[in-house]
Amino acid sequence: MPKKGPGTYDEKRDPELTNEPFGEAATEGAQTLVGAFVVHLHDATRSHYDLRVEANGVLASFAVPRGPSLDPETKRFAVHTEDHPLEYLEFEDVIPEGQYGGGPMIVWDRGTVRYLEGPSERGIPDGKLDMMLSGRKLRGRYALVKLKNEPKGWLLIKKKDPYAIVGVAAEEDIVRLERSVLSGLTVSELERREAIGEALVASAKKRLGAAKRKSPEPMTTFPFATYVERDALPEGDAHTFEIELDGLPARVTKAGEQVTLVERNEPTRRDLALFYPEIVRAVRALAPNEIVLEGTVVTFDNTGAPSVAKLAARARTVAKGDIHLAQLEAPVTFVADDLLTIGDEPVHRLAFDERRALLDETVKGEGVIRTSPLLPGPASVARKIATDLGVRRVLAKRTDAPYAPATSLRKGTSGGPDSTRQGDGHVRVTFGDHTELTRVEHGSTKAALREVRITNPSKIYFPERGYEKARVVGYYRSVANVLLPHVRGRPVTVVRYPDGVHGKSFFQWNVPPQMPAWMRTVAFKDEESERTKRGFMLDDLESLTYVINLGTLPIHVFSCKAESLAQCDYVAIDFDVKLASLDAAIVLAHTLNELLGSIGMTGFAKTSGQTGLHVLVPLGPGHGYPTARAMVELLGRLLVQAHPELATMERVAGRRGAKVYVDTGQTGPTRTLVAAYSLRAVADATVSYPLAWSDVKKGLDPAAFTLETVPELVKNRVCPMASFDEVVPDVARAVAKLGERFARS
Ligand code: MN
Repeated sequence: MPKKGPGTYDEKRDPELTNEPFGEAATEGAQTLVGAFVVHLHDATRSHYDLRVEANGVLASFAVPRGPSLDPETKRFAVHTEDHPLEYLEFEDVIPEGQYGGGPMIVWDRGTVRYLEGPSERGIPDGKLDMMLSGRKLRGRYALVKLKNEPKGWLLIKKKDPYAIVGVAAEEDIVRLERSVLSGLTVSELERREAIGEALVASAKKRLGAAKRKSPEPMTTFPFATYVERDALPEGDAHTFEIELDGLPARVTKAGEQVTLVERNEPTRRDLALFYPEIVRAVRALAPNEIVLEGTVVTFDNTGAPSVAKLAARARTVAKGDIHLAQLEAPVTFVADDLLTIGDEPVHRLAFDERRALLDETVKGEGVIRTSPLLPGPASVARKIATDLGVRRVLAKRTDAPYAPATSLRKGTSGGPDSTRQGDGHVRVTFGDHTELTRVEHGSTKAALREVRITNPSKIYFPERGYEKARVVGYYRSVANVLLPHVRGRPVTVVRYPDGVHGKSFFQWNVPPQMPAWMRTVAFKDEESERTKRGFMLDDLESLTYVINLGTLPIHVFSCKAESLAQCDYVAIDFDVKLASLDAAIVLAHTLNELLGSIGMTGFAKTSGQTGLHVLVPLGPGHGYPTARAMVELLGRLLVQAHPELATMERVAGRRGAKVYVDTGQTGPTRTLVAAYSLRAVADATVSYPLAWSDVKKGLDPAAFTLETVPELVKNRVCPMASFDEVVPDVARAVAKLGERFARS
């Protein structure tokens, strides 16, 4: 299944214009018996469902105009379309108008596919896939059968099994469930996602405003949120009752794209994001930009009952380091039972019934995030239902009380007036022994989880040199100690070459949907396109390895820190050689260094990794881009004045002749420079290599610094840029001196 050529995924899409993910091409020799599937509901030119099933390390895709059915007698026409990368499993967004497939697309269903008659790699060419689907909506056996005499025509058929409904009415069929299993939005709501998020915040604000005018009722009776034995439910209608779900109580916090998931129980409050990435992604997809939810992480068994054994099994699979398999075998659901904040609104101050109403407006999912089932009151009815369901414990929440954290809840159990009246031993806070069990396993496996699996390690990335992807990953890991200090704390943009140096490349500016929760990113507004883009943060070896595994060759770094995007802490001058000689660039670099020394500043040199040189000049903290730009421009002009025969700042390449182009244009809020020790995407795998000034001399050969040589070279030296962050010049004084010089010249 070639990825290149007419009609393929990459060929139909422009990575600069679409927001869809790009990933690795099909692998050869795969034998997929169990894999992932997704059904997208896609409102393009015509609304249709896209069923995508794992095969060859990509997603074989079938457009099904009328969608799947529960009726074995209904055969749905399907068109076999181009393979999509695995990253598409979590893609949910509005594809820009005018692009291929432009329009909103939701993750309508997602789950596991088991191929019943041999691997999908055989079934697809043979024209028959017999599948067992375990999704949030689709369950049981389905078949895809190729039509004769129709090159791309297939049929999607529900096979007879306990999930099938013969003769199901159209309005009762499975496609009536119209919401995303991630965000809970319908396909048309997705286009209004931002407005929906804002409306929810406005609704919270309104409720808070109304609540302030009411005087709060003193809480004299039962404490908030306590699990009680069903026979000891408080009487009256002051409480709302919820079934206790066997699972792991947790709190999830969304702040923009960043989502954290922590254990609700103190004192551990363990970070669970690594263990349940599907929850993190679903919360990221919710309409409000900021939200805090509480709930329970639950796995369900085949009968739909919460299964602690399955949750523990999941923790064990995660412990082996295989999150992908863990998600396939035991998908989790976050059953939300409370909403604490939305936007900036302190919703936790609202009475429970108000919070619950907001929660129901916010969480409408049929998938990963759901709301907890409520038992209708009063106590006598709730008790009867709980007994019928075999539920032993029930969560009782005072309907008119604000949120109370679990800690005060514990104190309450040791002798509030009502709990005393209920009798000792009847009112108990209990999260079950299983919580302890999974806790232990989480604790022992955290370190292993941050390992990144290298996909397609033997794929050739530099064919002229024979370097495989594994060599690229190995290179970056071997120079991580010297590279990371130059990128840590700064946004970076990476350029991905998933098919190697001669393949298609693109800047990664969308967060990859399957990104692990521990990867940090930072949003910024692109100067030129005005679009919000997103840079990675490379804090450590794992995050570096993760982005390199995406097929990254060069890493481009910003001249600012992530927490102060408007402040520039170094300027850079790029001596662009092209038709000129490197010797001329060397002369200019030394002149610049002398000039910098005379105004109390320090320059650091590195090869560009191609033919030129870069000089970086640290400014220290607290300087805006206008100052930095003015400064670098003056430096450039003084250099050209000093060597008019060697240097030019002419922007039009054709007018530069054989002079070195002194490029000062790398200074700006979203301008980037290739990082020190970054590979360049050129056939010889050269590296941008920091140089001591004594090595910036005639005979310097930038081609000598490559993927092959640099790991050895760095072993025996201190990085010439090691003191880069410690240099804090008096910028105001330096600028004044530069101004004087310029006036004199
Ligand atoms: Mn489509």
